[in-house]
Amino acid sequence: MPIDATQPYDDDNIFARILRGEIPSTKIYEDEWAYAFPDISPQAKLHVLVIPKGRYVSWDDFSANAPEEEIAGFIRAVGHVARTHGLVEAGYRLLANVGPHAGQEVAHLHIHLFGGEPLGPMLARR
Ligand code: AMP
Repeated sequence: MPIDATQPYDDDNIFARILRGEIPSTKIYEDEWAYAFPDISPQAKLHVLVIPKGRYVSWDDFSANAPEEEIAGFIRAVGHVARTHGLVEAGYRLLANVGPHAGQEVAHLHIHLFGGEPLGPMLARR
């Protein structure tokens, strides 16, 4: 069920619970600003989720309300995860779903990082 990305942050969302260690995940990377773990239902050979440690519903919330230092730290973390997985030369894809039209399911900003194989067209054909 897609979420309404204009709603306030809900501390019970599944990624908030992963950040608190209440739900298990396999840590791929962690720093002051970000946490990365494998998507439970991978849609590419490599499918990692990178999430900010801060409480942001979506990319919209984050880009509007996060302090500059947090934005810089998070974006650098996403790049770092891709780089350390050796994805730059072959290429990779980033995706952030926001709200119903994009099918956002989890109300905590997450960047999908796809790679490890050719990824096909940017959007599913209609
Ligand atoms: P989105 O549709 O952009 O909100 O993506 C949510 C993503 O979270 C989906 O790709 C799910 O497979 C993934 N997901 C949901 N629960 C978990 C979990 N416990 N651990 C890892 N990934 C999850």
